[in-house]
Amino acid sequence: MFILFGTTEKTKVMTEIETNELCMNCNNMVKHGIIRKRSYFTLFFIPLIPLHTRYSIICPACTFERKIKKAEAKAFCNRIVTMVDNEFGYSENKKGA
Ligand SMILES: [Zn+2]
Repeated sequence: MFILFGTTEKTKVMTEIETNELCMNCNNMVKHGIIRKRSYFTLFFIPLIPLHTRYSIICPACTFERKIKKAEAKAFCNRIVTMVDNEFGYSENKKGA
């Protein structure tokens, strides 16, 4: 008998930023996506245990990714953040304000 184990990574598109933003890599004005990449321990190719999760902003034109914090990703999903320059690269913008 043998046991097959390893790791795999799954990518989920969490949301798309509603406004066009300038890509730092390709200089296109496009709607960036927020993605979650989660690696799993697999047994017989079945993902069982989540090992590591990271969040990124991704440019759909060139697939350039920039890591962001989980809180930032959640904020984008709740539509309370718009991208402008400040210390984090974003400004908070309350809903309906
Ligand atoms: Zn790009």
